[in-house]
Amino acid sequence: FSPWNDPQAKPFIRFENVTKRFGDFTAVSNLTLDIYEREFFSLLGPSGCGKTTLMRMLAGFEEPTEGHIILQGRDISGTPPYKRPTNMMFQSYALFPHMSVEKNIAFGLEQDNLPKGDIEARVQEMLKLVKLEQFAKRKPSQLSGGQRQRVALARSLAKRPKVLLLDEPLGALDKKLREETQFELMDIQQTLGLTFLIVTHDQEEAMTVSDRIAVMDKGVIVQVATPAEIYEAPNSRYVADFIGDINIVEGKLEAVEKRGEGDRATVICEGGFRVTVDQASCAADPGTSVAFAVRPEKVRISTDAPSDTTVNALQGEVWDIGYLGDFSVFIVKLADGSTFRAAQANVSRLVDRPITIDDKVWLTWPAEAGLVLTR
Ligand code: ATP
Repeated sequence: FSPWNDPQAKPFIRFENVTKRFGDFTAVSNLTLDIYEREFFSLLGPSGCGKTTLMRMLAGFEEPTEGHIILQGRDISGTPPYKRPTNMMFQSYALFPHMSVEKNIAFGLEQDNLPKGDIEARVQEMLKLVKLEQFAKRKPSQLSGGQRQRVALARSLAKRPKVLLLDEPLGALDKKLREETQFELMDIQQTLGLTFLIVTHDQEEAMTVSDRIAVMDKGVIVQVATPAEIYEAPNSRYVADFIGDINIVEGKLEAVEKRGEGDRATVICEGGFRVTVDQASCAADPGTSVAFAVRPEKVRISTDAPSDTTVNALQGEVWDIGYLGDFSVFIVKLADGSTFRAAQANVSRLVDRPITIDDKVWLTWPAEAGLVLTR
């Protein structure tokens, strides 16, 4: 499933040069974005970057100051929210407390004056979908947080919107329930074949559920890509730093060698050491300021000196170790006083010679593990 790579595919939703100003504050700035039918799409970014504003414009609760929002080829500017094929799911406390679960789910359908039999059938279908059949007669106060969340989901899906908009839908749930619910959401989205647009500031959540993610910063999109691309090939320091853990070192590009399979770049890092990076293309001129980045789990830590053929090797001393169960993070102090992180999977408790604090160690990584960031 990758319609965004198909030049024939038409976007389902298009934000076209959309700007939203509140007074003289620009919340969304000349933003263009295509979302495809059946996509699970996330808007990810820190608080205040404009994610919710973008979603509210699609729902019709706000109108763009400039630009157009196009849904299935039609400009929906001026169409009121209830006439749009979108529905926004708010947090669980938006349920009616005096109504039973089934009444909550039926509410929107009754407003639309659907025949009684149809409403009953739809409510049953929705209860089944969110696995709450036995709870139909309960009031929201008699449910757990996770169950309430599922009622809210059932209610927002009952009217069969084409696009479901989810604003921090799992924010109120604890970590374990949140993770379970993420998989349920994905399952429901697949079953119904709908387009889901979710707003979140939780990068792990976005990585888990999404087909693609747009990473936002101050009203603009910095990168749109699949979770794996965002993680493996972030296009800037901002995206690299926002997603997962990463070592980032400022430096100067020394040289770029064009090779058949891609570019080989060398960077002189602050701290004086030189690193070699193989990546598809390195669009910067020698002498320019760049950042070198490598994820800790790609860095190997060892007390043994590396072989002569190792392209990237740094020597240091173990300063701290974080034990995280499935893996450990080693914080290593380099000669210039800066620190570098290496993560190692804890596959066995029977390690011959565990690395401990103050050990002299070598950090090594292959050229293709690193990144040169020009932005
Ligand atoms: P969060 O994760 O905190 O919800 P967000 O990325 O969703 O953040 P938005 O809610 O889209 O951010 O808000 C973006 C910016 O626009 C914020 O600085 C906010 O204060 C401002 N803003 C949003 N709505 C209004 C409004 N109605 N009037 C004035 N400013 C607003």
